[in-house]
Amino acid sequence: NDVILEVKNLHTYFNTDAGVVKAVNGVNYNLNKGEVLGIVGESGSGKSVTSLSIMSLIPSPPGKIVDGEVLFNGKNLLKMSDRELRSIRGDKIAMIFQDPMTSLNPFLRISTQLMETIELHQKLNKEDARAKAIEMLTLVGIPSPEQRINNYPHQFSGGMRQRVMIAMALSCNPEVLIADEPTTALDVTIQAQILDLIKDLSKRLNTAVIMITHDLGVVAGMCDSVCVMYAGKVVEKASNDDIFNNPKHPYTEGLIKSVPRLDKATSQKLYSIEGQPPNVIDLPECCPFHPRCDKAMDKCRNTYPPEVNYENGRQVRCWLYEGDK
Ligand code: SF4
Ligand code: MG
Repeated sequence: NDVILEVKNLHTYFNTDAGVVKAVNGVNYNLNKGEVLGIVGESGSGKSVTSLSIMSLIPSPPGKIVDGEVLFNGKNLLKMSDRELRSIRGDKIAMIFQDPMTSLNPFLRISTQLMETIELHQKLNKEDARAKAIEMLTLVGIPSPEQRINNYPHQFSGGMRQRVMIAMALSCNPEVLIADEPTTALDVTIQAQILDLIKDLSKRLNTAVIMITHDLGVVAGMCDSVCVMYAGKVVEKASNDDIFNNPKHPYTEGLIKSVPRLDKATSQKLYSIEGQPPNVIDLPECCPFHPRCDKAMDKCRNTYPPEVNYENGRQVRCWLYEGDK
């Protein structure tokens, strides 16, 4: 397995009037070439902040990456100059977000926006950039791309707009695509189509994908492996199969139980696990899941569990697995 991205001991804090928010508090994971990795967690668990940190897009102040490394093909992104970063962002590492309307300019035709991106990163002339843009729209399943390329964003449905964003993100052949809740705003059928598309393109173009979601149902069908985040840390990372069929961390277990069944096409929220996610401002030195955990022991309330790493790359942070270390 070729590792393309290594996140090591990442800590990202925010200074607020109420105190220091430890949004990302010691995150470790690896992403392999062409792998689709799901990052799952409740809102505030640090999943989006982790990805923004990778891209050096943390607003500072109030945010600050206080510790850690992010190695992209072995080079630390957190130590790069703005110029080096700009050449990587959008080109080697691309991002898509929940609402394409916020990333698309409503006043410009799709052709202008798509071709601008392609010309900028691939140094093509207008004619070749247009051909490439049409090729990308075809690839993401936009019907009649020669005509639709002249439309404005509002002339597309939500699902079609997200396809355009995917075309834009992939037009520079990135090695990594970070997708932050890309389908949350869409209805269930369209959601499934977009997820299938991302998975299919990832395999075809050998693009690694980080799929960030609060919905474990989203990762079930499309991810090779899954990171479960809780209170700024990865509490479990495992293959898709192990996460769903043999979860180790009690929080993962709770999540699995609360995944909506496929035969009920409702988009229920994840958390029917009792209790509230912890306040990341006053994180106690203990397992932050202990108030919600029915397996909690004394030491869970006094010390943070260490990260247990298994040979197959699986990782768990829970005192129950201390003996496996
Ligand atoms: Fe539960 Fe203890 Fe494991 Fe935390 S460390 S998840 S409280 S058993
Ligand atoms: Mg988020």
